Amino acid sequence: MVIVMAPDATSAHIDAVVDLVATAGGEAYVTRGVSRTIIGLVGDVRHFETLDLRALPGVSDVLRISAPYKLVSRENNAERSLVTVRGVPIGPGYTTVIAGPCAVETPEQTLQAAHMAADAGASLLRGGAYKPRTSPYAFQGLGEAGLKILSDVRDETGLPVVTEVVDASDVELVASYADMLQIGTRNMQNFALLQAAGEAGKPVLLKRGMNATIEEWLMAAEYIAQRGNLDIVLCERGIRTFEKATRNTLDISAVPVAQDLSHLPVIVDPSHSGGKRSLVLPLSRAALAVGADGVIVDVHPKPETALCDGPQALVESDLPELRDAAQTHAALLGRTLAEAPVPAAV
Ligand code: PEP
Ligand code: MN
Repeated sequence: MVIVMAPDATSAHIDAVVDLVATAGGEAYVTRGVSRTIIGLVGDVRHFETLDLRALPGVSDVLRISAPYKLVSRENNAERSLVTVRGVPIGPGYTTVIAGPCAVETPEQTLQAAHMAADAGASLLRGGAYKPRTSPYAFQGLGEAGLKILSDVRDETGLPVVTEVVDASDVELVASYADMLQIGTRNMQNFALLQAAGEAGKPVLLKRGMNATIEEWLMAAEYIAQRGNLDIVLCERGIRTFEKATRNTLDISAVPVAQDLSHLPVIVDPSHSGGKRSLVLPLSRAALAVGADGVIVDVHPKPETALCDGPQALVESDLPELRDAAQTHAALLGRTLAEAPVPAAV
């Protein structure tokens, strides 16, 4: 059972809930989120049912949820949620394209990639300043200098920024520049990072662990939600299988399955799943056809010189086709292609 407190609930209201639960022999776990406090009850549900928790002052909702993930479950919220990133919608009714370089390398490369993203129909810019690389000898990202580049490019193009954070101790810094925090496949079960992201006050893009089941993925989302942040977008990015022809195997069925189990929006990364430029457009079409709320795609002005993942980056000549595919699928499915905010006049 989960108790959601009203935004104006006081400490006395919270204490009253905890005390009442204790009288019924249960334990209450209080999580004070940015916008609301959530109290998880552990113990025999039958005892809690005899309590009139809903009548207590400051209580907004009492949820009986059988799924192991509670707050992100469709049982909690029958309607699918819409997440807004600096005014850009991701979720039901919209098709959202996110595009940009795998890694931020230079101001020029990032700006060029942002213009490419806009040409591809993107309303959000992706780009990593902290790169979780398999090899310690590979380019690890520019760190804060990369975040500054992203925020300058946002100022110039108006595209809000999605960027990865790999360590809980960096969350505050990354959140001070980014509009959306990305948690990558290798960190899906980094619980300290998930909790810190849940407290950062920014929407989170949670990629599926390459070895994770859908249930584990939703449990990871629950760690973020439990810290008071329900602005989470799930991203299917391919899983490990015996197949070597692709970098990872895009689990296309994960899209409708996750949308059925959770109210959170679900998007697809065709670049990190396929690992090859030639697969990005077909996989994007497949993702949108199956009902994904959007795609996140690598683009690069000069992939042959890219410091990271050049072979999977779309080039200039691919962009009209991606934009057309996004527009066509949006129209077919009765969705609107999400638009970027208009840049502020300088
Ligand atoms: C990325 O999007 O830059 C990335 C590293 O993706 P993933 O975590 O899916 O490998
Ligand atoms: Mn990459």
